[in-house]
Amino acid sequence: MRPTRECEVLIAGAGPAGLATALYLLKSRPDLRGRVVALEKSCHPRFKTCAGGLIPKTRLALQELGIALEVASVTVRSSRARTVVGDTIVYRDEPVGTVVRRDQFDALLARQARRAGLDIVEHCRVVGVEQQRGLVEVATERGTFEARVLVGADGSGSAVRRSTFGRDKTTIGRALMTDIEVDAKVAVEFAEQCYRFDFRCVGDGIKGYAWSFPCLIEGRPHLNVGIYDQEPRAPRTSGSEHAALLDELKRAFPELPLQHLRGRAANFRAAPIRWFDRRDRYAQGSVILAGDAAGIDPLMGEGISCAFEHGKAAAGAISQFLDHDSVALTRYDRELHRGVTGRKLRKLAFAARHFYGPHHRVFFRLSRLSRHAQEIGLDWYNGARRSDELSTAVLVARWAGSVLFGASVNWLEKRTG
Ligand SMILES: Cc1cc2nc3c(=O)[nH]c(=O)nc-3n(C[C@H](O)[C@H](O)[C@H](O)COP(=O)(O)OP(=O)(O)OC[C@H]3O[C@@H](n4cnc5c(N)ncnc54)[C@H](O)[C@@H]3O)c2cc1C
Repeated sequence: MRPTRECEVLIAGAGPAGLATALYLLKSRPDLRGRVVALEKSCHPRFKTCAGGLIPKTRLALQELGIALEVASVTVRSSRARTVVGDTIVYRDEPVGTVVRRDQFDALLARQARRAGLDIVEHCRVVGVEQQRGLVEVATERGTFEARVLVGADGSGSAVRRSTFGRDKTTIGRALMTDIEVDAKVAVEFAEQCYRFDFRCVGDGIKGYAWSFPCLIEGRPHLNVGIYDQEPRAPRTSGSEHAALLDELKRAFPELPLQHLRGRAANFRAAPIRWFDRRDRYAQGSVILAGDAAGIDPLMGEGISCAFEHGKAAAGAISQFLDHDSVALTRYDRELHRGVTGRKLRKLAFAARHFYGPHHRVFFRLSRLSRHAQEIGLDWYNGARRSDELSTAVLVARWAGSVLFGASVNWLEKRTG
């Protein structure tokens, strides 16, 4: 066994959650330069199965951290959805999203975090965690590391979560995706700068949706096309589960060349998505969880904004903990349940239960009652102008006002502050 390396803070996983934790921490505590270490099983730039859609809330976090989005991206200005009860299009003046490639985006974050003083140890897989005498000992393929705090930011299959909180797979969804090269003049996603979502698979028992996002791969226009299922029922490795999802994906976008996708083919990528469950715990002793390891949006599987929100909360808690505030990590757990992100994730869990439940037609109908209500809903989801931080009462008042009176979003915003 190689000798133990000691540091103040260890972060398992150098994805958005781990890197955001480091970026926020080192921004507020530059004295920790060189004493914060991230353990990453892979090596940047590395592929990540993800559509790469950044909501405006993530762009706000990047601004807060002073990070310019210096990677190829596509701006999206409207969102189109097909449902079992009809279609909707929601336009906004401001972008509703920005699509990046995760290998480039995560490598950008890693460069910035290194510049701020994070030490990233790559090709270093975490295999186990032990806590004793107020310290955390992390076993990896490259020896053991010891720290005062450990952040488990190692994704949906988190080894930290498994070692510390036990094995639980009941809150793991699944998403499949592929990329198709397209002519930007022909593809509506480019021509009209839109996201396309298709929720009609809910009628066939899938708790999720199919998507098509415009993106750039090596400068060439592509569509990232995929399907999310919050509760896949078949065994996760089963070819038939994938085949059923791929069939739904082909049904959603019959005009796209997806016929070659088969249940066991290598031309699509599949990955788990752990979603938020309010019964989960996010802190135990000196170990906390962030990002997918903790659990993200159950409705859409969006998790990059969560990674930044968790990272910011984790950084604040760690800083206080290092200053001998012994309950700071317990407060972090409470923040993830009851803070802005926790409250948003609870609402999204509620929405997932209803939009993907037996009465989904009623809920899709309700969501189509008013265009203004859809704009309010989209802005809330996107955290545009931080509207996801408004109280539930204000949100309900805005929604009801727009449905009942058709009032414009701007007018309602003025009236409700
Ligand atoms: C198909 C698909 C499409 C998606 N599309 C979107 C989207 O458009 N927008 C959006 O916001 N979200 C999307 N998501 C979700 C998003 O990808 C995640 O929420 C996000 O990556 C979470 O960041 P993270 O840092 O928590 O985890 P990850 O990005 O998974 O990062 C975890 C890191 O930990 C490393 N790691 C894992 N295990 C270990 C270990 N044992 N030891 C050391 N290192 C380890 C990994 O290599 C990785 O670098 C999508 C997910 C899928 C599967």
